Amino acid sequence: MTRKDQILFYLSSSLHPICDDCLAEITYCSTRQEANHICRKLSERNLISRNKGYCNRCKRNKIINQIRSVNPIINQNSLQKKDSPDPSFLSINESEYIFSNIVYSWHPIQADTNSIYQFPNSMTPYMKSLYKLPTIYRWVIQFQDKKYLYYIAETEKLCPNRLGSYLNPGPSQETNKRLHILFLDYLRKGCHIRLDYLKFAPFTLNSYQISQESLKNANLRRMIEHLIIYHYENQGVSLLNR
Ligand SMILES: [Zn+2]
Repeated sequence: MTRKDQILFYLSSSLHPICDDCLAEITYCSTRQEANHICRKLSERNLISRNKGYCNRCKRNKIINQIRSVNPIINQNSLQKKDSPDPSFLSINESEYIFSNIVYSWHPIQADTNSIYQFPNSMTPYMKSLYKLPTIYRWVIQFQDKKYLYYIAETEKLCPNRLGSYLNPGPSQETNKRLHILFLDYLRKGCHIRLDYLKFAPFTLNSYQISQESLKNANLRRMIEHLIIYHYENQGVSLLNR
């Protein structure tokens, strides 16, 4: 990883904007000038923003660096929010992230064209026709106080196979049985449970062109799944994965 990649990676996974001095320390730049030089270049390329503000790490007011969001995906999400029958379901503001150069967003599984699927409803024909693909998905448990719990996983075929095994887990499907019981318990506590799938913009990894199509490969699905779990853990997000 080059210093520039390290800086981009740090900024893309950080919750707070950060100053050049702190970035230089974190990414082991030889000098503050090196971090400053790289950040100005990234800002010229519009990959990050540089504004006066508060650096959460050194607690001083300085020029701080922040990754830029990717507009097309944000627009897509805000459109979806308007059309959604239950906007409270989509109120999570962490539905888009940049991972170095991996841009992804989560989208709720729909039961039909205008409603979101909710556990433990049965699968609709709409779902069986639309979601029979290799997928990275997350269960979202929404508590009444707007807190969330997630379970992130991947599958070769979301509908009907994988979702079916959550609805009616077989005797040997330990994880699905555990989650099925947990989910029913959360429902009794007044939670809502929905299912999201992951979309990402095509990206290059070494010489590989990775697109949504590439999820046919189980190793690639697991790599992206694990990268996201790693990221959530680093952000302190509550996960049911163990
Ligand atoms: Zn600082």
